[in-house]
Amino acid sequence: MNADVLARLKDAAGPKGFSVDPAEIAPHLEEWRGTWHGHTPLLLKPATTADVSRILSICNETATPIVPQGGNTGLVGGQIPLGGEILLSLARMSRVRRVDKAGANMIVEAGVTLAGAQVAASDAEMYFPLSIASEGSATIGGNLSTNAGGVHVLRYGMARDLVLGLEVVLADGRVLDMLRTLRKDNTGYDLKNLFIGAEGTLGIITAAALKLFPQPAEYATALVAVPDPRAAVDLLAQLQSATGGLLSAYELIARSGLELVLAHIPGAGDPLQAPSPWYVLAEAGGAARFALRQVLEDALAAAMEAGLASDAVVASSEAQRASLWRLRENLSEAQKKEGASLKHDIAVPVAAIPDFVARAIPAVLTAVPGARPVPFGHLGDGNLHFNFSLPKGGDGDAFLAKRAEVARVVHDVVHDFQGSMSAEHGIGVMKRDELLRYKSAAEIGVMRALKRLLDPNDILNPGKVLT
Ligand code: ZN
Repeated sequence: MNADVLARLKDAAGPKGFSVDPAEIAPHLEEWRGTWHGHTPLLLKPATTADVSRILSICNETATPIVPQGGNTGLVGGQIPLGGEILLSLARMSRVRRVDKAGANMIVEAGVTLAGAQVAASDAEMYFPLSIASEGSATIGGNLSTNAGGVHVLRYGMARDLVLGLEVVLADGRVLDMLRTLRKDNTGYDLKNLFIGAEGTLGIITAAALKLFPQPAEYATALVAVPDPRAAVDLLAQLQSATGGLLSAYELIARSGLELVLAHIPGAGDPLQAPSPWYVLAEAGGAARFALRQVLEDALAAAMEAGLASDAVVASSEAQRASLWRLRENLSEAQKKEGASLKHDIAVPVAAIPDFVARAIPAVLTAVPGARPVPFGHLGDGNLHFNFSLPKGGDGDAFLAKRAEVARVVHDVVHDFQGSMSAEHGIGVMKRDELLRYKSAAEIGVMRALKRLLDPNDILNPGKVLT
């Protein structure tokens, strides 16, 4: 890369705003699961929107590619400079600019961690509901750029649904100030939504106005044994009706997954008497006087009478609630300890989940006899982590060599159900080919046209999402 350009970029970022120290840069170049490795001549660490603006205008003028990065917790390689691009970390842009309790919103900068945003909300006795496993290091900028999902989407929506306004720096350095906190604003095209989920390919998100909610005073949490995914879907409607739509989480767990947790996670125990082929972890939150625990117990008793559930435990303390959640939260870790796995982040319409599971599992087992299905995830959103562990006693490398073949089998079934092959993790570099395979030519054409319009010199995260 041109030495003069590098000097200009360092100058634009200021003395504290860059690094060429290999030890400091190294952790930014590795995807956390070790799948992707990048390289870069320069790490930029702007502290203000004006810094980002100056940096991008130089990049644009000199056709210098640049890759934005938040907490480097992405799962599809979108945040790694694979082609030796300049690396732009937004970590120093970590101010909470304003919390407006009456307006139920807050304005935070892109580098605020998701956990930090949650704390800023709770300090004001409000609630920011986005919650994902990596929230300690993942940042708001990355969460919005990838439209993160997580365990509370059922009630509060994806990251996109939590945004009132956005501040974005365009490829040419212009600042698009859309940091409005309006609940209603019908003034033409909704530009902010172009940049959410775009993985930094259309502009750099530098700040966001986020929605806040009342803190639920009480949670009612249950682990329910259900005979099959069909019963789980029917039970979802019943529990939503019983709680007046206050369910915030509704997670499906296969017995195979629970058994991995029981085998690999110290201290984990089966809270129910007899094994069941499937489970649901359901949680509702609301005001204490709603007596949601009683409501949930009554609804589950009715569900058992109707044959939708065979057993259930409703948490009677915060400690018991936490131990039920640990069973769900340790599924990935337990699967990792079991050995090689093939993972798919899919969504289909909620009501189609039972038929999808019934078709996709045999299809994968035809391709890889003996593979062990470990499906789990956000049934309430129609989003499953449709995972498989290697056959018992099987060879991990041989199993992983089937990655592309198995993904094709799964995603073709997903497509038949009008589903999505990337429900909450994005496209990055991992699913670029899948995007071209499953989106219509018309959709791809509009996406390409937007990219050309907003980033004519192809400097913003080149090669990600679209090739
Ligand atoms: Zn998930």
